[in-house]
Amino acid sequence: MKAAVFHKPGDIQSESIADPVIEQPGDIILRVTSTAICGSDLHILNGFVPQAKDMVMGHEFMGIVEDVGNGVSKLRVGDRVVVPFPIACGHCFFCSNGMSTNCEHSNPKYGPEGNILDNKGGALFGYTDLYGGYAGGQAEFVRVPFADFGPRKVSDQLTDEQCLFLTDIFPTGWSAIDWAMLKGGETVAIFGSGPVGLMAQKAAWLKGAGRVIAIDILDYRLAMAKKANNVDIINAHKQDAIEMIRQMTHGRGADVCVDAVGMEADRSFLDKVKATIHVEKGSMSVLEDCIKAVRRGGTVTVVGVYGTPFDNFPLHRVFDKGIMMRFGQAPVHKYIDELIGLVENGKVVLNDILTHTMPLSEVSKAYDIFKKKEDNCVKVILKPGR
Ligand code: NAD
Ligand code: ZN
Ligand code: ZN
Repeated sequence: MKAAVFHKPGDIQSESIADPVIEQPGDIILRVTSTAICGSDLHILNGFVPQAKDMVMGHEFMGIVEDVGNGVSKLRVGDRVVVPFPIACGHCFFCSNGMSTNCEHSNPKYGPEGNILDNKGGALFGYTDLYGGYAGGQAEFVRVPFADFGPRKVSDQLTDEQCLFLTDIFPTGWSAIDWAMLKGGETVAIFGSGPVGLMAQKAAWLKGAGRVIAIDILDYRLAMAKKANNVDIINAHKQDAIEMIRQMTHGRGADVCVDAVGMEADRSFLDKVKATIHVEKGSMSVLEDCIKAVRRGGTVTVVGVYGTPFDNFPLHRVFDKGIMMRFGQAPVHKYIDELIGLVENGKVVLNDILTHTMPLSEVSKAYDIFKKKEDNCVKVILKPGR
């Protein structure tokens, strides 16, 4: 089959490799019909999340069941499914309690510590040996373990484009807002207007926000936010975002701030020197902005990824302002059925952020455009078999 193979930072190619086969009774083999590139894939491409061996990329994918292990009871050959990006067993303590990203059985590197290089949470598709070393779905075929727990059937009435983002970015944006436990009417400031930020904007409206503010450094992404989600916008390179958010909120700050950027926020030369001295990967500048821009007693939720410890974390400010914080990967399994319902009932449209559809054979070019934010790129879908 053809697949997007990671070799080393900066080097992802479409190549011919062996087809996956059923390895465990609970596996299925999926013929991928659509797969997307995620901001999280850029952390691997850019060397922020390490991977020593070759690996098939991709954790946002859907397709048709091609083969079924003899332990699978809920799926048959020919079913059309979307697959949550975390790999989870469905019956351990964490899976039973809505925390599938902490599954105890899917990742050989699992452990309670959460260190930089070991003791990680549950496995993820196509997300390095630290997260289980599973081949991903930017390929013609992919092995999906624990297939009775992860994959969800979707209506034939919906196109791939309408439901693919249920695998990751919509549940991720939803998590950021769900964690903030809105009562209704809140001002929600979302830092980052990439695919995840855009989905958080949709979730904020659906969950009753009174005002939604999008902050980014690229005008075209803010234009997309305004057009798709009718939010207020701030370009943090042209305006003082924190001051503007305070002005919009009687000087108090936003009720909720969401970090949908993570460690690869844009950085000055000085930031890079600081990171080198402190042995940090990237920057926590957006998280610091969230802590500044949130009101006293407010909530900051963090879905942007951070991979190392960071010195000089403003703990004093978090304490003084009495901020509630919540971080992590999205527990997709917990939310996906409700979110499929929202898409099927027309309560939300997800594919209005899609800007590029390309053949899998052009994966290197697709990564390049998405990484460099060229050609007004927001989200790329790759089509295998073309
Ligand atoms: P992306 O790279 O397309 O978007 C990031 C956006 O942040 C860009 O639009 C960029 O212009 C903007 N940005 C950069 N610096 C900024 C700054 N200083 N202030 C404001 N905006 C700034 O990526 P994405 O796909 O939207 O993903 C965003 C983050 O979410 C990544 O870290 C990704 O790994 C993470 N993610 C997490 C989960 C999860 O489960 N927690 C799931 C998916 C993605
Ligand atoms: Zn992702
Ligand atoms: Zn589990």
